[in-house]
Amino acid sequence: MPELPEVQTVVNGLTKKISGKVFSDAKISVKKMVSTNLKKDIKNKKVKRVIRRAKMIVIELTQDKYLVVHLKMTGQLIFVDIKGKAFGGGHPIESKEIEFTKPNKYTHVILNFKDGSRLLYNDVRKFGWLKLMSKEEYNILSNRHGIEPLAKEFTLSRFKEILKKRPNSKIKQFLLNQELIVGLGNIYVDESLFKAKIKPFRRVYTLKGNETDRLYKAIKLKLFTAIKFGGTSVNTFVSISGERGKFVNKLKVYGRGGMKCLRCKNELTKIKMGGRGTVYCTKCQK
Ligand SMILES: [Zn+2]
Repeated sequence: MPELPEVQTVVNGLTKKISGKVFSDAKISVKKMVSTNLKKDIKNKKVKRVIRRAKMIVIELTQDKYLVVHLKMTGQLIFVDIKGKAFGGGHPIESKEIEFTKPNKYTHVILNFKDGSRLLYNDVRKFGWLKLMSKEEYNILSNRHGIEPLAKEFTLSRFKEILKKRPNSKIKQFLLNQELIVGLGNIYVDESLFKAKIKPFRRVYTLKGNETDRLYKAIKLKLFTAIKFGGTSVNTFVSISGERGKFVNKLKVYGRGGMKCLRCKNELTKIKMGGRGTVYCTKCQK
């Protein structure tokens, strides 16, 4: 699943492509993936802006409507301009038969703009969804999610307050909990914990003050850097301009189980935590 930096990369790309455009209609082939009002109500709505909330792409429309898209495991949002040039965002579909500039067997929703350009929603496993919401519905959804780690409100003291809510939780599980802090998944949790030199299965209450400080800084740094590099491509993500995220070259632990720690040369250990592959260094993470 794309994490905060990958969704932000898609949002940044979409902002440039679709702001100001007006939707004309929608073609939907898999009904369970979209809200029932979408087909009728998307008509004549203009895109005000595109933002990210947690791991969701939020397209703000006129008349206080919100088109919310979740790519889930294998979703892909592709913008195709009037010349047929495509800009993809999300999970690449690795297939020689698939031309992602055109609708294909994985295209379940097509959103047309009045100027002839369009958005294609492709999804191999069909876990993703698109919902057209009122402001109130969107706020309810947004409020079910935790704080944005790149927002101004996410201060060190706020982070400490949130930690106090789950003292017995393992720190990795805590960071993955989207009701507390949003946007972090397996990649950025493992990377942040390595940076902060904390073992993933430590209980939250055992963290010392300086460790909390280090972790807070590590989370922000990893996310900011990953956005700068266009996210991480580990065969699941490609940006709106079709580029693979370059943060993959910056990974220190994720996907490196059994390889040497880049800090101390110790062999990195891979374990399972809550069903998730977890890589860390037994030596330099305490
Ligand atoms: Zn190490």
